[in-house]
Amino acid sequence: MKMDTSLEITKCILCFCTPSKDNPFSNEHIIPKSIGGTVAAKLLCEKCNNKFGTTVVSKVKEDPSIRMAAHALQNDIPDLFKSIEDRQEYITKDMNGEPAMATYQKGKGFVIRSEEKQDGSLIYDTKKSEEHIKNTLKKDGLDDCEIDKQIKQLRQLPNDQCLQLSPNYSVIKNSVVSQFPALDGEFIDDKVIALIAYEFLALSFGKLICDQRFSFLRDFINSGNSSNKINIERLHAEKYGAFHRLYAEYFPDRIVVTVELFGWLVFKVSILGFTSKNDNPVIIMYLQNKDKRTLFANSLAEAKKGSFIDQCGTKLNI
Ligand SMILES: [Zn+2]
Repeated sequence: MKMDTSLEITKCILCFCTPSKDNPFSNEHIIPKSIGGTVAAKLLCEKCNNKFGTTVVSKVKEDPSIRMAAHALQNDIPDLFKSIEDRQEYITKDMNGEPAMATYQKGKGFVIRSEEKQDGSLIYDTKKSEEHIKNTLKKDGLDDCEIDKQIKQLRQLPNDQCLQLSPNYSVIKNSVVSQFPALDGEFIDDKVIALIAYEFLALSFGKLICDQRFSFLRDFINSGNSSNKINIERLHAEKYGAFHRLYAEYFPDRIVVTVELFGWLVFKVSILGFTSKNDNPVIIMYLQNKDKRTLFANSLAEAKKGSFIDQCGTKLNI
């Protein structure tokens, strides 16, 4: 959904360019769309959006904590689970419990990732392997008739048995008995968390987000230059929940933006050294297939009272 705001933001809040025909405003998802974020606003120019999209934001769904959350919630969020897991890496084990090969999810099934092992052997998906085998046997000097014979034998080959196809070339059909998500992706970059917090604050600060007070935050997001004015804590709640939540708290000496992903992953972004009397919205994005809604409260106080406005503008008490 699009945020209907009158933010008076007329330039990109990261590079300060005035969007033009060549580099227009892009409708930026404050929590990445790839993990179910629904709230978007025109805050960044296309160049900045693409820069972060291709470098850091696109990796968010590879974070092992995100994958574990999506797995835990897969019955509530089957569509999002599928799209998060699409193209993700899995590891498999053979009957001896040894790692066998890497696979990744594609559409409804799994595809084996082609790779060359240290001993020079090649791993291929069974379906893709025939073409490769035919070409190799041709190079080895076998004629078409011999190649056909070998391919027929290969198709009938039981699992885990070796077939000698030519003097230098043998093949084995590996069987796999178990498969697990490969949870070795990188954790979400702090720059992404800072960007979420910065964009979220822009919803209430409007064009004031571009002033000098936030320059250290922009510096961190743009160049990774750390500052003692920003502190990001990574915590977790007690259990997973099929929602993302964003809110800000104002203290006398700092603003703390909380980014909660899947109810469980909690990032607290403290921006030290100043405060504001702004009323910041509270946003909850429910992710369930059955009941996908985005709720807004005007302030933390309203949210605590359970007074929310749904995305169509209806006031709700929940
Ligand atoms: Zn920009």
